[in-house]
Order: sequence, then structure tokens, then C-alpha cells
Amino acid sequence: MDLHAMRHSAAHVMAQAIRELYPNAQFAFGPETETGFYYDVKIPGGAIGNEDLPKIEKGMQRIAKGRHPFVRSEMSRDEALKYFGSQEFKVKALEGLLAGEKTVSLYEQNGFTDLCKGPHVEHTGQIGAFSVDRIAGSYWLGDSKNEPLQRVYGLCFPTMDELKEYKTMMEEARKRDHREVGKKLDLFSFHEEGPGFVFWHPKGLTLFNTLISFIRDENDSRGSREIKTPEILSVDLWHRSGHYDNFREHMYFTSAEEKPYAVKPMNCPGSILVYKEGLHSFRDLPLRLMEMGHVHRFELSGVLHGLFRLRAFTQDDGHIYCAPEQVEGEISSFVDYVFHVYKIFGFEDVTVFVSTRPEHSMGADEVWESSTNALKSALEKKGVAYKVKEGEGAFYGPKIEFNVKDCIKRNWQLGTIQVDFSMPERFELDYVHTDGSRRRPVLLHRAVLGSLERFLGIYMEQVVGAFPPWLAPVQAAILSVTDNQNEYAKEILAALKAGGVRAELDVSGERLNKKIRNAQLAKTPYMIILGEKEAAARNISVRLRSGENVNEISTETFVRTVGDLSASRSNVLWPVLPS
Ligand SMILES: [Zn+2]
Ligand SMILES: [Zn+2]
Repeated sequence: MDLHAMRHSAAHVMAQAIRELYPNAQFAFGPETETGFYYDVKIPGGAIGNEDLPKIEKGMQRIAKGRHPFVRSEMSRDEALKYFGSQEFKVKALEGLLAGEKTVSLYEQNGFTDLCKGPHVEHTGQIGAFSVDRIAGSYWLGDSKNEPLQRVYGLCFPTMDELKEYKTMMEEARKRDHREVGKKLDLFSFHEEGPGFVFWHPKGLTLFNTLISFIRDENDSRGSREIKTPEILSVDLWHRSGHYDNFREHMYFTSAEEKPYAVKPMNCPGSILVYKEGLHSFRDLPLRLMEMGHVHRFELSGVLHGLFRLRAFTQDDGHIYCAPEQVEGEISSFVDYVFHVYKIFGFEDVTVFVSTRPEHSMGADEVWESSTNALKSALEKKGVAYKVKEGEGAFYGPKIEFNVKDCIKRNWQLGTIQVDFSMPERFELDYVHTDGSRRRPVLLHRAVLGSLERFLGIYMEQVVGAFPPWLAPVQAAILSVTDNQNEYAKEILAALKAGGVRAELDVSGERLNKKIRNAQLAKTPYMIILGEKEAAARNISVRLRSGENVNEISTETFVRTVGDLSASRSNVLWPVLPS
């Protein structure tokens, strides 16, 4: 059974069930989604409430059981305008999107007729397992200037097992929601004064900066040099790069001294200007420039979602300028880099996709072929399995995408490396070849984590805020048993800080149990407990987040151990646990 047809057919059935509940319901569009379907609806003088969802689902089940066929018919557009006269959005569609059509197609099931191109399953009994999931807000044609609608979402999977599995996963995801983790651990917040922009709090920024310094080290050791380019650049540059033509609706514009500027949505043009400054010889290649690029991309408010979908974020964005014969080697080292990093974060299940030439594209056949082969060959030589996304490359070149599966089996696209034949042409990049002639370098765009903010959101959900010691914003909480140890606690704090451990002191006067509980809720890896015994012996006792204790060790041992674990980016809390 075709899953797409199944999901979309479910939307028709849901519309029928909604009409039974609200006979005057006005229907807009009802497409499939990646997990089911939705229908945009308006209830004149009312609204669908959460309490309606079970009723709608029940109605759908009855209709599905009836095994009613989907019957196609055709009408002239004029007839359809009369037929759907009381359905304002169908009329709008016929007068707008379908204005050029002579005839339109209709589908009927069990007395409910909808304007639709199809395709559908044969009858309502073939829809599989479904449920009515939730209601969200939307607008006619997705434009907030238009009339507001209600979007009723449904889930639909071929079998009940798959539906249940998905629901369990979503339930798990709700428990791990990074927006909740962020609030509980005081990492970040969002404010209506800046929708889609994250406000990092001190602990969140420590986390963010620690991730950046990790990426910096990784880049450094791979011969990448970091640059920083401006966030606001002249509109002329964006015309030249092609972003103005292809990406304008996601860009923010501004002006100064009557000249138009745009806030960068991508880092490539900035990097290219750095490359173009000065002459390059074949000896300089491959030249690997990277930037922690802060980009702004306008997104509709309806699609914003915590750190997952922001209007401004930071990319670990690298641009490699190389000779054509260096492409495969660069791809190869990048693949190693990506797998190395994902492993550190515990993402061991990686799916690799190679996207090939799309229908509309630029560049000569042989260039496409040789670079696509370079991508594939780099993967094959490493024994990395990949899937081909035929025709899904960018118009300017083929790419590799890296997807990881998290612990609740969700897929996330993280890294990419992309060959670009377009920018070097547009910006007339060159280098001096061995024979003294000027050649065009190949440009590779690559990112390992993509958006660092989004990655942190994904990772927060993966570990539910229990970051490994090297990444934890507060590595150690120092807890005095009574106020008598507060002076000793301050000494220890100074010693840990001097040793590079991110430590915090709790001299709140609360009972020890309460202090431990607070540190535990904050998922702090180490709780340093200082009682009379420790103060007298001038040592420390460490309680690990996992509940084990490492008693009466020296501060030096603790600092060295945490330092070693952090340097190796280990997610182990203590090398050898006391028995
Ligand atoms: Zn349809
Ligand atoms: Zn780029």
C-alpha cells in the first residue's frame, strides 16, 4: 500500500468526520505529512476543541470500517465553483491556484466529496492505523496576513505496531523536551521581544562556549583556520552570490547611508571575500577556512521550535578551497572527522546519503560525474555504506549528508559536505597552477554539527540534561555539611577553579540532603561533600551523579582526574569506580 496515498486519504476521512461534528466546517487543504496528515479547517462561529479529537477519531474509525471506495469524477471549473459554493476556501482555490484549469477532479467517499488531484487508496478500509493527534494554528496559504485556521493533525502508519511505536517515541520525546531541560537547568530562555532568538543564561552559555572550544580544537588539529566575517554585508554581494535571487524570503534587510545591506543568512560569501584577498598558489591548497558563523534566517513564527528551529543560529561552517584532484582526499578526511565527533556524543548510528545531480543544475556533465564519483569513492574506500538520493543534490553540486539516530530512534540530519561549482565561477576564484596558469579551485562547503544551537537541543534531549563531565556547565558542586565547613569549602572552590574545574559553592545553609538533591536535579556530575572529617584531614569526598562515592581523596587527584576525563572528552564519570 502506498503510504503517501494512505496518509492523504486519511485526511479526506478526517474531513468527513469533522463535518459530521460541525456541518458548517470550511475546509482548506489536507495534505499528508511525514507522520500522517492534517487538514486546515475553519469552524464559523466556533472552534474545534481538544475534547472533539476523540469524537473525530471515532467517526474516522466508523468510516474506515465501512470500506467506502474513493470515487473519482471530473467537473469543469465553473461547475465546481457552483458545487463548492458554500466552501469558501475551495472557491478561493478554484479562483486562485486552479484558475488556469479547465476541469478539476473530485473524490467522493461515503457521501463526502472533496476537491482533489489524488491519488488515494481504493477504499477507506485501506488507510492503516491512524489517530487524531492535536490541533495547532495556521493561516490560509500559510500566510499570517491571511485568515487564521485550525490545523488538525493526524498520525497514520501502515500498522498498529508502527503507530504505537511512534506514539511511544513521541511520549519519550515529550519527557526529554529540551525546552523543559533548558528551563530546569537554567540554560536559556525565549522572550516575545525576540521570537526565534535564544537568550543564553550563564550556564547555557558555558555549555555553548565549551562546545565551541571543542569544535575549535577539532578543526585546529585538522588544519582548518578560523576566520570571522561580518554579519551585515552589502546587498550587491548577495546578488552576486545568488542568495538574493534564491533565498531572499529568508533574509533580513537593513540600510545605512542610503545603501542597502542584508544580514547574512550564510557564511560562504564572507569566506570567499577572504579567499579573494591576495593571490593563491597551488601550494596553498587545500585551503581550509572555517567560521563559527552566526547567521539569521527568517522563518514563519508557526514553525519556530525551541533550539531546533530558530531565526538566528551559529554554524560550524567550513569552506575548503582545493584543486579538483584534491576533492576525494578532503571528503575522506571530512568523513573521518564527522564519525569521530558523532561518536564522542554517543551517536553511533549514522546514515549517510549521497545526493546526485538534480534536473535543473549548472556545470558540465563530466564535472558532475567526477565529483559525484569522488564523494562515493571516498565513502567506499572507508567501507562506509551510503544511500543515494537521486537528483537531490543542489543545483550547484552533489553533496553528502550525515544523519544520526538518537536514543529514541529519531533521525536528525547533522553534517553535510557539498561540492560547489557555482560560487567559484560567480566570484571568479582562482589559484596559480604549477605551470603558472590560472585555475579555478573547487569549493567545498562543510559543517559537522550544522547549527550548534540545534545540535545542543538534540543532545540535551539525548542525555536529558545529564551532560558528560567535559561539557557540563557546572562540573562540581561543593557542598558543606554544616556552616562550620564553609571556610574550607571556599578554599576548595579556589583550588578547583585554579585547576580549571568549573565548580560552584553551595553554602545556602540548607541541610546536606537538600543540597545533594539540588545538585542532583541540576545533573551536576560531581558533588564534593565537605564535613568535619574532610576539613580536618584536608581532603575531599566526592559523590558522583550516578550515586557512587569516591571518599577522602586529595583535591589534586580530583582536579587531575576531571582534567584527564575532559581532555579525552570521555563520558565516564570516574575511571575506576570504587568497589
Ligand atoms: Zn485527496
Ligand atoms: Zn557555504
